Formats: sequence, C-alpha cells, structure tokens
Amino acid sequence: MLKSYNIIDHYYDVIVVGAGGSGLRASIGMAEKDLKTACISKVFPTRSHTVAAQGGIGAALGNMGEDDWRWHMYDTVKGSDWLGDQDAIEYLCFNAEKAVIELESYGMPFSRTDEGKIYQRPFGGHLTQNGEGPPAKRACAAADKTGHALLHTLYQQCLKQHVEFFNEYFVLDLLMDDENVCRGVIAWCLEDGTLNRFHAHQTILATGGHGRTYLSSTSAHICTGDGNAMALRSLLPLSDMEFVQFHPTGLYGSGVLITEGARGEGGFLTNSKGDHFMENYAPNAKDLASRDVVSKAITMEINKGKGCGSEKDHVLLHLEHLDSNLIQKRLPGVVENAHSFCRIDVTKEPIPVIPTVHYNMGGIPTNYRTEVLQPTKSNPENVCLGLMAVGEAACVSIHGANRLGTNSLIDLLVFGKAASDTAKEKILPNTNHPVLNNNITDKIIERFDKIRNSNGNLKTGEIRINMQKIMQKNCSVFRNHDLISEGIKKMTEVENSYNDLNVKDKSLIFNTDLVEALELDNLLIQSKVTLHSALDRKESRGAHAREDYSIRDDEKYLKHTLVWVENNNVVLGSRQVNMDTLTNKIKSIPPKTRVY
Ligand code: FAD
Repeated sequence: MLKSYNIIDHYYDVIVVGAGGSGLRASIGMAEKDLKTACISKVFPTRSHTVAAQGGIGAALGNMGEDDWRWHMYDTVKGSDWLGDQDAIEYLCFNAEKAVIELESYGMPFSRTDEGKIYQRPFGGHLTQNGEGPPAKRACAAADKTGHALLHTLYQQCLKQHVEFFNEYFVLDLLMDDENVCRGVIAWCLEDGTLNRFHAHQTILATGGHGRTYLSSTSAHICTGDGNAMALRSLLPLSDMEFVQFHPTGLYGSGVLITEGARGEGGFLTNSKGDHFMENYAPNAKDLASRDVVSKAITMEINKGKGCGSEKDHVLLHLEHLDSNLIQKRLPGVVENAHSFCRIDVTKEPIPVIPTVHYNMGGIPTNYRTEVLQPTKSNPENVCLGLMAVGEAACVSIHGANRLGTNSLIDLLVFGKAASDTAKEKILPNTNHPVLNNNITDKIIERFDKIRNSNGNLKTGEIRINMQKIMQKNCSVFRNHDLISEGIKKMTEVENSYNDLNVKDKSLIFNTDLVEALELDNLLIQSKVTLHSALDRKESRGAHAREDYSIRDDEKYLKHTLVWVENNNVVLGSRQVNMDTLTNKIKSIPPKTRVY
C-alpha cells in the first residue's frame, strides 16, 4: 500500500492540529518555550472558524461596572447546569483576566470605553453577586467582530514566534502505537497531493466543533469535528456528546448568527402577539437568560402557535428602538448580515430569528492540563500519552451541559496556553522519535485509499443531507425516546449508504470531492454517538431537554457520558463530575435549582 503513495516524514517536538484560536494560542506558547512546533490546518489559519466569532471574550475585568472572577465562576457552574468540572472552571475564570490582558499586549484591537479601557458588554447568563445582582458587563469585545480581531492577532504572534505552518494539509488520522501512545499524525497535502507523516512527542488536537452534523447551523462548512472522529477511530472515548447548543438567534432561513451581544446592547424578543415572552420564562434575566433557556422558550412559543410569519415558525428580535449610531458602532456585523441575508434594515424593522445549532459542549475528554483522558476501570482519570486537546474539540469540561456566550473564546486562550505549559513539562526538546511499525501508517492509508476509490452511486452531498435532516429532526432542542430511537434507526441506514458512495474525482491535488467525503465519514460517526448519548441520558439538563424526562436528575445523571465506538458498535460509560475546586481560593458550588 505504502508504495503507491509518496510519503514525506517530518519530526517535531509538538504538532498542533488546527489553526483556530485554540491551536494558534497553543502554538504561540509552544514556540515561546523553544519547543519545535508545527501547526497543521486544512484551511489557511485566518479562515478558521474562530474568525466568525462575534460578541466577545468572557473575563471579569470590571472595566464598566463591578465584577469578580468568582462571580464568573458561579455563573459558569450554574450555566453548565452543574455538569462542568469545577477544578477546570476555577482555572478558566481565575486565569481569564490575565489571558485578555496578554491578548491586549499582543495588539488585539478591542473596542474602547471613553477612558480607553477594553469595552465590555453584558451577555446571557453572566450576572453579578453570584447570580443575585444585575447583569455583569463581562464580554470583552471588538465591535461584533471579536473573533476576526482575535484570530488575526494570534496569527501575527505566531509569525513573530516563527511557528511553522502546514496550511491546507488535511489530517487523516492519529498515529497510535501498539501501547496506544500517540506518536503524531498523517496528513494529506491538498496542494501537491503528498502524504505526510508528522512524528511528534505531543500532538494537540485543536480541530474545532462538529456543528455540520446538523442542517441548520451557525458553524462554517469546515466544522466537521475531524479530531473527534480521529479520537473515536483510535478507540478513545468522546464525552457529553448529547449536549448540542442551539443559539436562540440564528437568522431565519440562512441560520447565520445574530450575536447575543445584540440583546446585550438592549435588544429583545417578541412572538406573533407582540408579547415580550422572555419575561415569563426568566423573570430576572429575561432576554439575557442563558442560551438553552432562551432557545427552549422560543421553541415553546412556536409550539403554542405563537410563532411569526405565514408558517408561524420563528420569532422577532427587536433592535429598532435602539439609537442607530450605537447599532452601527457596536453591531456593524448584525446590520450587515441582516441586510445581506434578509434585506432588513435593523434600525427600522425587527429581525426574524430561530434557534440554530451553534456549539458542541461535548468532545474529547481532557483534564484542566489539557491531557486527553483514556479512562480505565481502575483509573477514570487515566491519561492517553502523547495526546492533548483544546478548544471546541475538547470537553475539559468547563461548559458542562450548556456553554455561556463568551466562554468559548476565553477557553481557547486559557487552555491554549495551558497546553503549552503541560507540553513544556513533558517534552525533552529535540530528542529522538521511536521508529513506528509500518502497519500503523498502512491502516490509515488503506482507509484513505478506499474512500478515494469509492465507485458507488451516491454523491457525498446526498448522504450528508440525509444525515443532517435526521439530526435536525430527531435530536433537536426537545427530544424524547421515540424520536431519538427513530433517529438511530435511520442513521444506521444512512451510515450503510456510505458504502455506496461515489467519489468521482480520483486526483490528489485540491480534490474537494475527496475532502468532503472524508469529512462526511467523520460527521457520520459523531452523529451516531450523539444520538446514542442522547438516548442514554434520561433527564433534562442544560441543552439536553427530554420531553419524557423533563426534570434534572442529579442522583442518577450528575455524571459525564462517555462513548466509544468498537467494531462499529457504540459502547457507553460514564465519569464522575469533578465537584471540587482546584485550590482553596474558592469553595465548590453545590447543585441547586437553576432559575434566571
Ligand atoms: P476552530 O476555530 O473551528 O478551528 C479549527 C481548526 O482546525 C481550523 O484551523 C481547521 O482548519 C483545523 N482542522 C479541522 N480539521 C482538520 C483536519 N482534518 N486537518 C487539518 N486541520 C483541521 N464564542 C465566544 O466565546 N464568543 C463569541 O462571541 C462567539 N461568537 C461565535 C459566533 C459564531 C457565528 C459561531 C459559530 C461561534 C461563536 N463562538 C463564540 C464560538 C467560538 O467561536 C468557537 O467555539 C471557537 O472559535 C472554536 O475555536 P477552535 O480553535 O476550537 O476551532
């Protein structure tokens, strides 16, 4: 098999797979610490999905009102519906301020207050006084293009630190040796068609989320969770895959995001009767309740027949009462997107919106040091050697059952840096790499070759849309046993239909047909484990709302779901939630009823 492909070997201390915010922040840290680092990305770094982030980065700077990292921690634990690990959440919130100031020193063009401080706006679920006070102004923003500013700033720092980039290289799989130690990756260079074997002492998966398992998603088309699928194929588990965040305000029709920052600046939602309905669901936080709460409220209004438009299938977001100068200054992206996709002038008319898939709380389980977990019966915290994960691909878990807005970008910065700290401890730079058994490489190339030479009857797009429709219908904002079971049955048929795939273009140079087929294979395995995880959790918590089990059940389900795929079969397990804090700077926050 190897003979028919040209393989090039590369040797690094660290390989970072992914050049979004998490991968770039990790790469900067590695290079600063003199680790020989390569960052591999299937797209040019500044086209990574982080570029689309809008509203802000969560950190309790207190620039525009009283704030405290402990309140941020309280909100994050509550937002997670107590499924977040409190050691990791403490680590995140305690280090958030430092991470934002560091980003400022890197040259991040933040919006500014009149005194020249970083501008901060309110966001859903972020409150003061441990949830008892008014909304916290905690989201550090660059207008509503924060991700764009962040990604370009980090990329410039990577160039300054001489990080080596392998752009438009598609990573196929992890090189796992016989002891299940990760020794690097194999990647296909889209430009010249070569296969590249990257040997590394540590491999960091920073491959982002898998929003494209669904039909309507705010995520870019490249968000196919490739790293998660690689972990599953390496017989590693994923965690908490049932928790898929629906953002309340995707633009009706296209699914393009209207940032929560719009409600942070004073926007509010109404139904077809003109009712400001969030007052009924979250009397205190109203439109700034957390995302799961607002998405469920919108869905219930629509289900009650109070949706807007001829199909009664969406609600309206109002900004037209706000000062139009403020809208232009703070929300230029909202103005642009509403006009481009709906021909709406937001200063004059409301925006039609609908809950849309936005973020994956589940992913590759790690500890707060970003080491990937490979739990065994005797040691649930056992670590997979040679492998780390950061960003949306990882499940640290700080977001638990529901992520608060702004907590992803801060996650990328804090845990991107943590990955470099951990790698520095583990790696003796410039040491030799073990010689790998050829069969490890062969197995990866066989899969690639098989997909490349698929000669069936179905196009990738045909299979993909079948998968996405099932996820959209059978694993939506509200789920129940019958719906999910039907989804599993149908998904098995779709999975089987992949055997009838046709990849028409057999070339190796910029073959997007083949890229999409590989991505679809990755999406299919994640759809499958999402459905099984959703069926297994018989309670409602955060973004997982079961109509047949509407109550949170801490006795049975205060635990992380783990899911493996062995010989194509799904195997489920669990891991305890870490309710203890990392230090004695703060006490752990015991579960209580979650109201906003
Ligand atoms: P990504 O930015 O998705 O990067 C993934 C990287 O992995 C890419 O470089 C890609 O090329 C690479 N990759 C993937 N697969 C492969 C492969 N097979 N081979 C090689 N490379 C590969 N969060 C906030 O906190 N605040 C916000 O205001 C906010 N706004 C958002 C707005 C929108 C529209 C969306 C969709 C999300 C928003 N989020 C926000 C969430 C946040 O943007 C994402 O969770 C975060 O940017 C993910 O970053 P990442 O580094 O994990 O992955």
